[in-house]
Amino acid sequence: MRPDILNPLFAETDSLEGVGPKLKKPLEKLGLMRLRDLAYHLPERFVTRHAVSDLDEAGEGEQIVIALTVVEHRAARSNRGPYRVLAQDEKGNICALTYFGRASYTAKKTLPVGEKRWVAGRLDRFGEMLQIVHPDHVAKESSGLAGRLVEPVYRLSEGLTQPRIAGLVAQALEKAPELPEWIEPGVLDQQKWPAWHDALMLAHKAEHASARDRLAYDELFANALALMLVRQSNRKRRGQSLQGDGHLRGKLQLPFPLTGAQQRSIGEIIGDMAQEAPMLRLLQGDVGAGKTVVALEAMLVAVEAGAQAAMLAPTEILARQHYETLRKLAAPTGVEIALLTGRDKGRGRESILMGLLDGSIQIVIGTHAIFQDTVNYRNLGLVVIDEQHRFGVSQRLLLTGKGKVTPHTLSMTATPIPRTLVLAQYGEMDVSRLDEMPPGRKPIVTRVVALDRMEEIVAGVERQLQTGQQAFWVCPMVHDNEETDLAAAEARYAALKHRFGDDVVLVHGQQPPEVKDAAMERFVAGDAKLMVATTVIEVGVDVPNATLVVIEQAERFGLAQLHQLRGRVGRGSEQAVCLLLRGEQISETGRKRLALMRETQDGFRLAEEDLELRGGGELLGTRQSGDEAFNIATLEQITRLLPMANDDAKLLIDRDGGLDSNRGQAARVLLYLLERDWGVQTLRSG
Ligand code: ADP
Ligand code: MG
Repeated sequence: MRPDILNPLFAETDSLEGVGPKLKKPLEKLGLMRLRDLAYHLPERFVTRHAVSDLDEAGEGEQIVIALTVVEHRAARSNRGPYRVLAQDEKGNICALTYFGRASYTAKKTLPVGEKRWVAGRLDRFGEMLQIVHPDHVAKESSGLAGRLVEPVYRLSEGLTQPRIAGLVAQALEKAPELPEWIEPGVLDQQKWPAWHDALMLAHKAEHASARDRLAYDELFANALALMLVRQSNRKRRGQSLQGDGHLRGKLQLPFPLTGAQQRSIGEIIGDMAQEAPMLRLLQGDVGAGKTVVALEAMLVAVEAGAQAAMLAPTEILARQHYETLRKLAAPTGVEIALLTGRDKGRGRESILMGLLDGSIQIVIGTHAIFQDTVNYRNLGLVVIDEQHRFGVSQRLLLTGKGKVTPHTLSMTATPIPRTLVLAQYGEMDVSRLDEMPPGRKPIVTRVVALDRMEEIVAGVERQLQTGQQAFWVCPMVHDNEETDLAAAEARYAALKHRFGDDVVLVHGQQPPEVKDAAMERFVAGDAKLMVATTVIEVGVDVPNATLVVIEQAERFGLAQLHQLRGRVGRGSEQAVCLLLRGEQISETGRKRLALMRETQDGFRLAEEDLELRGGGELLGTRQSGDEAFNIATLEQITRLLPMANDDAKLLIDRDGGLDSNRGQAARVLLYLLERDWGVQTLRSG
């Protein structure tokens, strides 16, 4: 149960003055549902304004506060034209206050001719004229702007303004209670951090590094603590020791010898499964590193020991692919493998459910459907979760709750994650790394091409398709606005369809699942030759005949993501090519990213470099796997503060594993506040 002290913070935003259904929408778009979300909606940056007495004192581009006397209003010449209010300073210098659209109505009222007004905004130049476009503030008295020399700038969505959101944040902060201290006193002293409530206030008021650090630390500490609680409770759970005798694995006829990394990982997994405490292990390995056979060996160990194994895939298509692959590989063993997805209905489904219940089905592959309440196993011993990063920890916990004895869990991810972040995201697990690729892989030829050479690029795609091979064309999600992004992808699709006709399919995240699956299936079957997609193809589809991937505005993607996308090709025997199309305005970081992509295909190295580059402070338009676990802490803060947060969390658990002491109680408050309460749940269930 959430501690009562947090109730005010968990009230919905419409309990605030001035928030009705109309304002709720744009707030929700920003993920702001409750007061706590507003309180944690920290400014992106601050504007610092200079008070100047005349325009000569101010430089172009500068944020200023100045007293001006209104001289004249000039109405817009056309509907879309600007509405200008000319005003002069003490010395008679003229400056235009420029308004577009509806804002001009306000200007008519607030800026009467002949009157003096205090104006805040950014001074720039339009032709010969100085101007301030949409002043941030206009006040009658200087006192009206006295407190406005430094102001927060918040992330907005359509329908919100800075003053509006600032007002709501202020209301939320007013309702925020003081909370008991959960940080170790020694750490607090040494860092000279403010208390939680003060830190929150300060962080909204001005650049305040130590306040921001404290809030970031809270998040890292909460996360570390929750993960350690899961780990602790897992150790206490009853699992079953599964020791295979090798009689099934011995029958496998793999067409290749296992790599050293595969053998090592299998060894680690077998060691874990032999223990009574349930395994919690993450298998990390780049696309193509050969995770599937490792999973198969683990599942066969379970079956040899008389238990069942289930493999969970994030999508229907992936589930089907795994099913086909595993059935072929495992054929010599005679093990009964079934596929169960949300699509299976009626008698087919009934018979699978029976098979799982009576144990005649030994391995099941599927989507979430395999964990529905109606699905019961005779003895589920191992759960394999593919593409781990699609699931949060709380979901992982739900999965393993199935069955009287907790099954062993093997999670697999193809996202190479830097070591520091692995701990932050998967701290409850042990890690095996497939850091060696199967031999004989041809490197993917990677080229960077300017976007304006579109005609050549399309001609290249055409030549490639004529050889009978297939290609991906990836459109970016960059605008933080689904509609515009989708429009861009649809426009590209239309253009390519014009050229290639029915050979082209479009796949994106907004499609109904049936439409998306149908398009994917056409491509997998080789019926469609070119797939235009947004990043939904990042995970999954294995089409060995696809040998070309074109990525538009590649500089906008993070390295880890580019690497994933590139990994969609190069799975067959033909030489694969990756074309990175870069836009005209490319930043230094963007340039470095593309250069690195050309230089290496080592996913782990790219992940580390990615962290390095992004740690440099560049904000990306796209969210990526790697830092989604955190909303408050920046990458730089994660790298700097995480070790301390981990130590602190460990210390607390060692001393007070039940979180019963005063500090333990305070830590519970934190876990609820930052929604890591799945950590607390384990205290009761474990
Ligand atoms: P992942 O799931 O890690 O992306 P897969 O398990 O799909 O990779 O393996 C990619 C390809 O490599 C498959 O065709 C698989 O049969 C092959 N493969 C796996 N292990 C080896 C190995 N040791 N030697 C050669 N080929 C391998
Ligand atoms: Mg795989």
